[in-house]
Amino acid sequence: QANGAQQTAQSSCQSLDASLEEEVKAFLINEDELHTYDDLTKVSPVTPSTVLKCLQARYSAKVFYTHAGCTLVALNPFQPIPHLYSLDVMKEYHCAPQPQEFKPHIFIVAEEAYRNVQGQVEPTNQSLVVSGESGAGKTWTSRCLMKYYATIAAPSSSQKCQDTVERIERRVLDSNPIMEAFGNASTLRNNNSSRFGKYIQLQLDRCVPFMLLSENSVVVLFEIILLTMTRVLLACLFIHSFVFLYPSIHSFIAVCCSGHSCWLEHPFKRISWRKPEWLSRLLMKGISTYFTRQANVQLQLKSRFLNFHMGSCDFSEMENVILPRLVTLHVFPQTGFLQNTADLLGVPSEELEACLRLRSLRAGKQSVVLKPCSQAECSVRRDCLAKLIYAHVFDWLVACINKSMCADTSRWCNFIGLLDVYGFECFTSNNLEQLCINYANEKLQQHFVAHYLKAQQEDYVSEGLAWSFIQYQDNQSCLDLIEGSPAGVFSLLNEECRLNRPSDAKQFRMRLEKELSSNACVSWDKFSRQPDFTVLHYAGKVSYQIEGMMEKNKDPVPPELVHLLQQSQDSLLQSFFTEHSTEDSSGRGPSKVVTVVSKFKNSLESLMKILHSTTPHYTRCIKPNPDCRPLTFKKEEVINQLEACGIVETINISAAGFPIRIPYLCFLQRYGLIVNSKMFHRSRGENGLDVDKDTLLREVTRILNAVLRRHSLDPCGDAGGRTRSSMVHCGRTKVFMTHSMLELLEGQRDRE
Ligand code: ATP
Ligand code: MG
Repeated sequence: QANGAQQTAQSSCQSLDASLEEEVKAFLINEDELHTYDDLTKVSPVTPSTVLKCLQARYSAKVFYTHAGCTLVALNPFQPIPHLYSLDVMKEYHCAPQPQEFKPHIFIVAEEAYRNVQGQVEPTNQSLVVSGESGAGKTWTSRCLMKYYATIAAPSSSQKCQDTVERIERRVLDSNPIMEAFGNASTLRNNNSSRFGKYIQLQLDRCVPFMLLSENSVVVLFEIILLTMTRVLLACLFIHSFVFLYPSIHSFIAVCCSGHSCWLEHPFKRISWRKPEWLSRLLMKGISTYFTRQANVQLQLKSRFLNFHMGSCDFSEMENVILPRLVTLHVFPQTGFLQNTADLLGVPSEELEACLRLRSLRAGKQSVVLKPCSQAECSVRRDCLAKLIYAHVFDWLVACINKSMCADTSRWCNFIGLLDVYGFECFTSNNLEQLCINYANEKLQQHFVAHYLKAQQEDYVSEGLAWSFIQYQDNQSCLDLIEGSPAGVFSLLNEECRLNRPSDAKQFRMRLEKELSSNACVSWDKFSRQPDFTVLHYAGKVSYQIEGMMEKNKDPVPPELVHLLQQSQDSLLQSFFTEHSTEDSSGRGPSKVVTVVSKFKNSLESLMKILHSTTPHYTRCIKPNPDCRPLTFKKEEVINQLEACGIVETINISAAGFPIRIPYLCFLQRYGLIVNSKMFHRSRGENGLDVDKDTLLREVTRILNAVLRRHSLDPCGDAGGRTRSSMVHCGRTKVFMTHSMLELLEGQRDRE
């Protein structure tokens, strides 16, 4: 019998050993098992290169999701993986008591947010922030999240419920293709690239539990932010714009842009006008004729719009109003098209021509002088017209979608917000667009770090540890550099634009240097050919060209154009401009110019306000190779993105803290043999260990001190730059330590 008891004790010891072994193994790198590490912060030593190896091993093993602390890293497989997103998988994650224990997946993030937003005690709004570079899979991930919510809303299998689910699913998911048809373009990096950042709110009705869905219990609210307007027309070598469109997805705009070449000022070549006959025939017959030939496209769009019950704006209005407007933008410069363009805009052709060719200048109080514009100026005006109409059409469309989906906004209380935002950008040549995008990313990064540290802090505080050991430098000084007032790039840029004088890049650069040099996040290359400044972002250095920055920031709308459109015969087009205030061409009058950076900053601020009021969940999408090739992993590409999306930073932060937390008893059971502790033997014995917390803590401290001394590290003082407090702390129930402390303990244990 005694033997039996001993055996039981031994085997329970073995299984205990095995589970501890597991726990510790998770922290120490084993090359053959790299793909099994579900959390990058557990890889040891945790460095960019080990993290990279781990991700590569997982990618080769076709494992696409990995945790990095409180962030989820999603590698783009660039090929359909249907079994990963099937209905069954969704249900599995949704029904699991602890989905976190399953393999890393975007559905864990989805489910966590879903449970939090419904929290019985204190439901909190949630934000799912999906970021990454172009083509990394943000929009794909957002769609996946929306699909998840639409699917898990299924209350049961009854027909009525199924119908409800289908309606909700349609409502939630169909908004995407519409937005994508208008707002996406084919680019070198992604043939369905979103050219706008979007924040979607999936709102839940407090009165109706999500599980018992009424037809109105989920609505989608699009709040389109940060539309990269400048990209509508400014094509550069790397960023193709709306002009290079991918016809099957962007059918709508593709038609309009097929004749783009005449207005596109490509930096290296002038692309020839490819389909004049086609387009002229199209315009003569009316755009709808084209669509009848493209029955499929028309049906698809039509059914989507109709399904949406978009109130007064049915498809025929879209067809008659918006399509031609967009077409006009691209056909104007060809002689003979002026009339068509003017007809479609509902304005007299002579006036349209005059507005594009002549600038009116006020001379004295009464008289107005008309000054002919140069060819380049005419092009700017034409582009401006295109941008203006496009921006209004887009806003109008968003408003239509929102109107069709929100029954009563005052009733909706809790929401899950979904942010699909473009990531950090660094090209050979960067200008105002990149500065804005990177500024947005700095803001998000700051928000992320604050959140991440807060989560860590909470654990420390609940364990009674003083919060002082994570010395982490946040990115505030970079933000000060950009948004600071009065001395910050944006304010100085606005000031320069308000002066309304011909812009001088060299002079502006001198001004920046004078005002901003004390900030450590900016540097100046005295020898660069073009005036520029370099910002040290959290994700790396980016040099911004100053040439053209002021013009882009002003983005002036010639008042003549607005006046012209205000008089359009077309009521919708006219309505776009009724509220539009114009700047007096003399520079006086209502001269409060709202610059691009001010608008951008404002919309970002409102977004940040929402984010701050929610619990965030971060997903970082990674594009494993630049050519969108399936299952191809390019280390260089990936490490750059890990840096750019702050994963390396996250790892640094977690390494700066005490990522390894072991409960006292487990600690004693594993490391007690180092000091040949009696308690260690007792803890593994038949009767277990029954001691108070203080005794346990004393024994744990004895073990720690012994190990530290053996490595010539003074437990009380500083030795070799490492103090005990920089490596290990004892909380209320757990020992908190760094990876290096764990290695010392493990090494010592092996030697015993
Ligand atoms: P952009 O910033 O240019 O809008 P993005 O990050 O939104 O880029 P997506 O359009 O979401 O990029 O993804 C690019 C392509 O990658 C998709 O069209 C899809 O083919 C593929 N893709 C992304 N994620 C996945 C996935 N999880 N499984 C399969 N394919 C994917
Ligand atoms: Mg996208």
